[in-house]
Amino acid sequence: MTATDLTEPRTTPVLEVDDVHKTFGRDEALRGASLTVAAGEVVALTGPSGSGKSTLLHCAVGLLAADSGVVRVLDRDLGTMRDADRSRLRRREVGLVLQFGQLAPELTAAQNVALPLLLERRSRRAAFAAAEQWLERAGVPDVGDALPGELSGGQQQRVAVARALVTQPLLVCADEPTGALDALTGEALLGLLLEVGAETGAGLLLVTHDNRVAARADREVVLRDGRTSAGVVA
Ligand code: ADP
Ligand code: MG
Repeated sequence: MTATDLTEPRTTPVLEVDDVHKTFGRDEALRGASLTVAAGEVVALTGPSGSGKSTLLHCAVGLLAADSGVVRVLDRDLGTMRDADRSRLRRREVGLVLQFGQLAPELTAAQNVALPLLLERRSRRAAFAAAEQWLERAGVPDVGDALPGELSGGQQQRVAVARALVTQPLLVCADEPTGALDALTGEALLGLLLEVGAETGAGLLLVTHDNRVAARADREVVLRDGRTSAGVVA
């Protein structure tokens, strides 16, 4: 496959990153990174440690502003949006799983999962019913009342995946979601992300340095020194 395929998705793109640059001080983390994720597509983003994978993911979801280049989520240009609109778009349409859960420590597991729906003014009843359902699907049906600090790393990551999926986002971005987990938990969570993506037609961007994870993707994009190219998968 050729590099141009990166910008020519099969169907409607849910994420388009075009020639993004991002510098931290003198450190050029991204020097022309581009990728596209189509609806229903699973894209693995791989590359050596320090190549800019997390920076690219953070720019893709608007947690970091790109210095130049364009990022579009569901056809909306993040660079020209107001902060509040960008936050709302991320909360409604993007499911984010970071490497280490990132749950709110003062909230119970169920409150963490219900929170995105409560912020969307869904009723408490609906939000907590959905939270219970997603905790069950993520394989932790009994942890709803526990605080994150009372859970194991694997349980916390399962809760984080439940929280990412509870809004049924059209774009799911996960940064090494299984990196810190034992093989069985990692496999279960990866399986859940792929299954839900296939069910809902969400696009999935999976940052990973695990070849077995990359092999499950439709397409692989490789980052090296802040530049993207097409990988060997697909
Ligand atoms: P990866 O996820 O592929 O390991 P990162 O995106 O974390 O790579 O990092 C890419 C480069 O950007 C590294 O040189 C890293 O030190 C630098 N970097 C990332 N985030 C920051 C930050 N918030 N401040 C300063 N430098 C950063
Ligand atoms: Mg990283």
